[in-house]
Amino acid sequence: MKKLALGLAAAMSLAFAGGANAQAYPTKPVTMIVPFAAGGPTDIIARIVGDHMSKTLGQQIVIENVAGAGGTTGITRALTAAPDGYTIAMGHLGTFSAAPATYPGLKYDPFAGMQAIGLAGGTPILIVARKTLEAPDLKAFVAAVKANPDKFNEAHAGLGSVSWTTCTLLKGQLGVPKLNAVAYRGTGPALNDLVSGQIDFMCDQIVSVAEQVKAGTIKAYAIASEKRSPALPNVPTTTEAGLPDYQIEAWNGIAAPKGIPKEAVDKLVDALNKALNDEGTQKRLLDLGTVIPTAAERTPDGFAALIKRDAAKLDPALKAAPK
Ligand code: ASP
Repeated sequence: MKKLALGLAAAMSLAFAGGANAQAYPTKPVTMIVPFAAGGPTDIIARIVGDHMSKTLGQQIVIENVAGAGGTTGITRALTAAPDGYTIAMGHLGTFSAAPATYPGLKYDPFAGMQAIGLAGGTPILIVARKTLEAPDLKAFVAAVKANPDKFNEAHAGLGSVSWTTCTLLKGQLGVPKLNAVAYRGTGPALNDLVSGQIDFMCDQIVSVAEQVKAGTIKAYAIASEKRSPALPNVPTTTEAGLPDYQIEAWNGIAAPKGIPKEAVDKLVDALNKALNDEGTQKRLLDLGTVIPTAAERTPDGFAALIKRDAAKLDPALKAAPK
């Protein structure tokens, strides 16, 4: 009898614990993998958005920087983790839309093999250079690069990263596909070398370069968007600066392993939305030039559609690009 009662109590507490757990996601901190070094755009957006998401979830979102191979190392780690909602990733145009065409043996499938959560921010692309580079504007820079491609060093965050992808498109348009390039573990460290003048230029997301451009420690030749950014109103668009065909929009967004519980998906989507609706969070993002995602882009389906659309756009150029 005693044995039976104990057995019953154990079964009940197990059932109760199961029920309580299912209700209470998250019951412990959630790891958000940032697949690049700290201080770059992906890291900055993850920390700003993650800060507010932690409040909604009632559990800390812990950022873990896992850099390497253009972000694919960290995303592989995140998407092959247990599908329990406790490991998620902040990826971007590179890791989700460019990597499949860049890495034939990619160990994750951003189209059918992951759970999209939502877009965290649009990040316009800027062509930036060390402040001591002679070319005063985009036209002069383009002419100099075309005339002497061997004299220029580009920085990027590895094959398939946003900086690599967007500068690959630029170099393709300029007819200098093989220009020297240096790979970093993220564009945060690359930016440090651009400021100190060790490299010549890069194509990067506005988020980490905006402050340096404003401070005059680097120069921005153009923004590859239709319109100027309110965060950097003095930087011309590529159309204004004489390179109208160079237009590309980058972004960062959140995904999780395929198969996480629906409750976790719903709570993460809700937390992301609340973060993006929060005035303070919006201001932090807008000040850095981030474009706040539309309601549709913040949903799993809307984000998944964006990933596919951009992959299809990038595919031909990336498959043909020298690697
Ligand atoms: N912006 C970087 C890239 O080029 C990554 C980063 O450091 O966030 O992909």
